[in-house]
Amino acid sequence: MLTLQGLTKQFGDVPVLKAIDLELSQGTTTVVIGPSGSGKSTLLNCINLLELPTGGSIRLGESQLRFSQADKPNPKAILDFRRQTGTVFQGNHLFPHMTALENVMVGPITARRLTRADARALAVKLLEQVGLGAFRDRYPYQLSGGQQQRVGIARAMSMEPQILLFDEPTSALDPELVGEVLEVMRALSRSGITLVVVTHELEFASRVADRVLFMDQGTILENGTPEDVFVHSRQERVRQFVSRLA
Ligand code: ADP
Ligand code: MG
Repeated sequence: MLTLQGLTKQFGDVPVLKAIDLELSQGTTTVVIGPSGSGKSTLLNCINLLELPTGGSIRLGESQLRFSQADKPNPKAILDFRRQTGTVFQGNHLFPHMTALENVMVGPITARRLTRADARALAVKLLEQVGLGAFRDRYPYQLSGGQQQRVGIARAMSMEPQILLFDEPTSALDPELVGEVLEVMRALSRSGITLVVVTHELEFASRVADRVLFMDQGTILENGTPEDVFVHSRQERVRQFVSRLA
C-alpha cells in the first residue's frame, strides 16, 4: 500500500536519503531504528511530504507522486497526498488554548469539512479509543506528557489517514509514562492500521513490528523481521547498535 522507489532527499548538495526502495503492506507495523542523523525523521517527513523528496516516487494507495529537483508536484496533489498520512512527533504539537476534544475536532472541521456535530462525535470516539474519554475537556497543560501524546495520536487519527507515522513518540517522556503510549500504539497495530514507527523501544519493536528497518547514512542497511534484525543480523554495525540498546 506504500511503495517508495528510488526516493532521494538532498538538502542543498548533501544527500540525506539515497535512493530508498521500500514496500509496506496494508495493516502492517514497521519499526525504524538507526543512529542519530541516519535519516529516520527525513524518511518519515518525505512520506508525509512535510519535506519534498528531490527524486524518485511514492505511491500510497491510489495516489502516486514523482519527484525531481527541477519541478515539484502541484500543490493540490501534495495536499491531497498529505491528508492520507497522519504524524505523531516526539513533542506534542497540541494547540495550548484548545481542550483535548477541540484539538481532535479541529482537523476534521477545517480540512475534512465535517459538521461540528460529526467532528465532535468522531473526537469523542477517538479519545475513548486512546483511553482519554474522561479527560476530553482538559487543556494540554492539565494533562501529563503521556496523555498529551495520546491526544496527539487521536488527533492524527482524526484525519482517517491511510498510514500513521510516529517519530520517536516516547523519547521526550518520563520513563513511567512511556508504557501507556506504547500500549495505545500496540492496540492500533492490532486494529489493522498501517504504522511506521521510529523508536528505540526494543521490546515494543520485537513484540509489535512486522518489519524492522535499520537505517544508516541515508540508506536502509537492513530490512527484516524483528528476529532477523535483532538476533541474526550479519552486519556488524547493526549488531553493535542493537547490543547498545538492549
Ligand atoms: P535521524 O532522524 O535519523 O536522527 P534526520 O533525518 O533528522 O536523522 O537527519 C538526517 C541528516 O539530515 C542529518 O545529517 C541532518 O543534519 C540532516 N538534515 C535534517 N534536516 C535537515 C534540514 N532541514 N536541512 C539540512 N540538513 C538537514
Ligand atoms: Mg529523528
